[in-house]
Amino acid sequence: MSRRIYDFSYIERIIQSYGDCLTKRKMTTIIYEPRGRAKEYSELAANLYSGCDHACSYCYAPLATRKKRDTFCLSKPRDGVLKKFLNDAEELERQNEKRSILLSFTTDPYQSLDVKYQLTREAIKILHNHNLCVSILTKGGKRSERDFDLLSKNKNRSEYGITLVFIDEEMRQKMEPGAAPVVERIEALKKAHKLGIKTYVSLEPVWFPEDALKFIDMTHDFVDLFKVGKLNYNPQQFNVNWTVFRNDVIEKLREYGVDYYIKKDLEKYSLDPLAVNY
Ligand code: SF4
Repeated sequence: MSRRIYDFSYIERIIQSYGDCLTKRKMTTIIYEPRGRAKEYSELAANLYSGCDHACSYCYAPLATRKKRDTFCLSKPRDGVLKKFLNDAEELERQNEKRSILLSFTTDPYQSLDVKYQLTREAIKILHNHNLCVSILTKGGKRSERDFDLLSKNKNRSEYGITLVFIDEEMRQKMEPGAAPVVERIEALKKAHKLGIKTYVSLEPVWFPEDALKFIDMTHDFVDLFKVGKLNYNPQQFNVNWTVFRNDVIEKLREYGVDYYIKKDLEKYSLDPLAVNY
């Protein structure tokens, strides 16, 4: 096993990169401006729940939120979250904020807990009522379809994205036990697209490059944007030739003529600086 796994700087880097998800704008308490790697993904975000019952084995959030993995999986609503979220939304509306608020970085907005609490639905309503934009990112599958009525009513202020990692369902169950099966996520994405909601797919983490490439084949007809990253902070990353993957993925995305964004972590494996697409 690689020496780097036991290197304390590895933990520090995660906390520096994502722990700043906890840094909040001065005037807000729940909606915040991430920094580092997270900011590249979205300039504003909110986490309505503390923890996530999807329990993905590769999840960085327990470290970022300084929780033990077992405790992190016992998720709960954050204290007084909707009241604080409403205050933040009012403030952002006063500032005429146009950037999307991502739900979410360190939790999933459609984990099973949300079936009971429905905080995500209330948060979307608050954002739309305050002329703010929402970007959903989830592995919740069918659970997330509940709120398509809200997203489709406010298409110009909504986008819906799913994360896809494993093609093999057994592997998915092992690595993302609480999340929805991949076929269910793709079905939800297709429905969102049919309703005219802007859709995106997040290919990150990339565990097996061949799976990421196959997902593009499977979904490109109903995806407006692909966001492609790599795998970090896991020994599996050393089994992948990221230069080859970067070139293969760009070639495929260009063949299909779809919009894409290559994250900086992967882009640094570029062999051709002119190929940068952002
Ligand atoms: S869905 Fe996201 S936040 Fe939840 S456990 Fe998986 S990686 Fe972590």
